[in-house]
This record gives sequence, structure tokens and C-alpha cells, in this order.
Amino acid sequence: MQSVFVRLHLTSCQTQSDNVVETGNLGACPRGSSSVGHPTEAAPRLLLCDRQSFAWWLSSLGPTRVFPPGRGGRPTHRQPTGLAVDSRVTHMIYDATVVETYRITPRVQGLRLQVPDHEFDYEPGQHTTVRFDSAGEEVVRPYTPTNLPGSDQLALTVRRYDDGLASSYLHQKRPGDTVRLGPVEGSLTLADPDRDVAFLASGTGLTPMMAMLRQYLREGTGNAHVVYGDRREETLIHRETLNELAANHSNLRVAFTLSDPNWEWTGRVGYVQDHLSALFDSFDARDYYVCGVPPMVVQTKARLAELGAPDARVHTEGWEDGAVEN
Ligand SMILES: Cc1cc2nc3c(=O)[nH]c(=O)nc-3n(C[C@H](O)[C@H](O)[C@H](O)COP(=O)(O)OP(=O)(O)OC[C@H]3O[C@@H](n4cnc5c(N)ncnc54)[C@H](O)[C@@H]3O)c2cc1C
Repeated sequence: MQSVFVRLHLTSCQTQSDNVVETGNLGACPRGSSSVGHPTEAAPRLLLCDRQSFAWWLSSLGPTRVFPPGRGGRPTHRQPTGLAVDSRVTHMIYDATVVETYRITPRVQGLRLQVPDHEFDYEPGQHTTVRFDSAGEEVVRPYTPTNLPGSDQLALTVRRYDDGLASSYLHQKRPGDTVRLGPVEGSLTLADPDRDVAFLASGTGLTPMMAMLRQYLREGTGNAHVVYGDRREETLIHRETLNELAANHSNLRVAFTLSDPNWEWTGRVGYVQDHLSALFDSFDARDYYVCGVPPMVVQTKARLAELGAPDARVHTEGWEDGAVEN
């Protein structure tokens, strides 16, 4: 089933003294929908329903203006019952089928998820969300496809945490099972394929880099570096794929660094940010993409600034600063 989430906002039509969305106001509510949010909540209010019912419901609202989902749309879709449909957050929800699972490391599993007859359209580097109920609560966690858009499948790479709700849930999935997914969105995307790039990642922060790297190797005109750090050799993900891509693309260089290697490791040791000055001669020309746990992102950004990389050339998800305690 493909479903949509609709966020409803009170409009100025609603009287100030009666700042209540009553169930009756949603009289034309889509058939079979479930709503989230208390009726006395001003906004937002969420509806979950199937796509066909949503189309029917929208058409029953009279004249409407619908803006495409994504960045830049303005939520001004008004209708006379005193509610506005915020079409920026009118999202597709997909029930995807697991078509393949595969072990990448002892703690990391790959999953290939398919929504037949649907073509995923997103910018490499963006993430979807996995959604399910646990103890009566909806759990929503972001995961980043490592494949390129344009097919009916998403390839996820998921590291399991022993007490992790979503990662344990995904590791139990087997071919034929269903996984509910949110839309693919996010701000970490390739800014300019005509500039040299450095993808700096630690842990599962490599997942958006895999997608952007594939895009760059197809469309980019410059040189790409991947600098990827993890704890030990056995925790490195997509190592063979990266080595193979480097072997087949003369404009790609890959460096691995381990923070806790065993004695056999002869490669780089330490964190990604420790190796930047040795790896690059100058810092003002290329774009840097940084993803990993928040301290890694914050420290790498600081190191890049020290080395002379302009702020505008450093790209991150953008939320990591707030996640690091000073
Ligand atoms: C934009 C974005 C994209 C992401 N893409 C991916 C991806 O492609 N692959 C992937 O595996 N994960 C990815 N994540 C992380 C993922 O969303 C979950 O946070 C992670 O799987 C843990 O969720 P959980 O429900 O299993 O754990 P929770 O139930 O949320 O937490 C359980 C325990 O795990 C610990 N924990 C949770 N996350 C981390 C972490 N990152 N490092 C250390 N300890 C942690 C918590 O402290 C807690 O003790 C992404 C996160 C973001 C914000």
C-alpha cells in the first residue's frame, strides 16, 4: 500500500476563541484514515490513509492549490472548513518488500527493499525513514540508500545496536517481509559535479557518501577522494566496493583509517580528521562532504576551517552541531 501523510494546520478561518480542531471538522476525512494528534491540538494534525482515498478527499475539498513536496513549496492550500493542507509535508509512505538481505560485517546488514511499479526519485545522499510500531508508539528512524535513484529499489546498510529498536527490527527482516518507509529527503546532496570532491565519513556515515560517490563517478568531471574511518578492519563497510570503484576510476582515491586496529593493520591509524593535512595539498578548491557521528562531523569541520577550507565548501546534514555537548 502507498499511503500519504497530510499535516493539517488551522487557518485564519478558525475563530480565535475556539482554537480546536474537532473531529467533525474532518467530516470529509479520507476513508479508512487514521489520525494522529489530540482533537484539541491546534496543529499539526496528521492523517494516514491510502493514496486513492486521499485523492478522493482532496477533490472533495473544492478549489485547491497543491505544491510539489520538497523544499521551496509554500503551504497555502486553503479550503473553507477552517483547515489548511500543508502540501510541503504531503509525503508518500511506502510498504516496501524485502527482496534480499546480506551480511556486510558481523554487525552490519544490507537490505534491498522494493516497491513494485514505483520509481524512487531522490537526490543521492538523501535518506528515507523506517517506520513501525513498538509498544504502542511509532518508531521513525532515518536510513540512507546507498544506491542511485531511478529504480523501484532502495539498498540500505544498517548497523545493529544491541538495545537499538530500529536496527534490531531491520536485522530481523527476511526476504518477503514488509518494511514501511517514509519519503527520501534531506539536505546532504552533491552540490556541484564539476568541482573536485572529498567524501569524509566515519561508521555508517559512509552510506550517503556511497550514493553521492556513485553519482559523482557518473556525472562528475573532477577528482574524488573518499576518506573513511571506522574502528577495526572487520567493522569497515563497503570496503570491497570502494576498492573496486577506485580500481575502475582513475579519478578516485580511497583512504581507510582505523581508530582501534589490530596489530596486522599497516594502513592509516586514527580519526578521519587527523589525516586531512597529509592527504590534501590545498583546501580552498574542492567541496567537502562530511558525515558520521556528531563529534566526528563537528571536529572535522573545525579541522577543515583551520586548514583553510571555506565554510561554503563544507557540506553536512546540518544538525550535528546541536547534537554535541560543549
Ligand atoms: C540522516 C541520518 C541517516 C542515517 N542513515 C543511517 C544508515 O544508512 N545506516 C545506519 O545504520 N544508521 C543510519 N542512521 C542512524 C539510524 O537512524 C539510527 O539512529 C540507528 O540505527 C540507531 O537506531 P536504533 O533505533 O536501532 O537505536 P535506538 O533505539 O535509537 O538507540 C539504542 C541505543 O543505540 C545507541 N545509538 C544509537 N545510534 C547510535 C550511533 N549512531 N552511534 C552510537 N550509538 C548509537 C543509543 O545511544 C542507544 O544506547 C542515520 C541517522 C541519520 C540522522
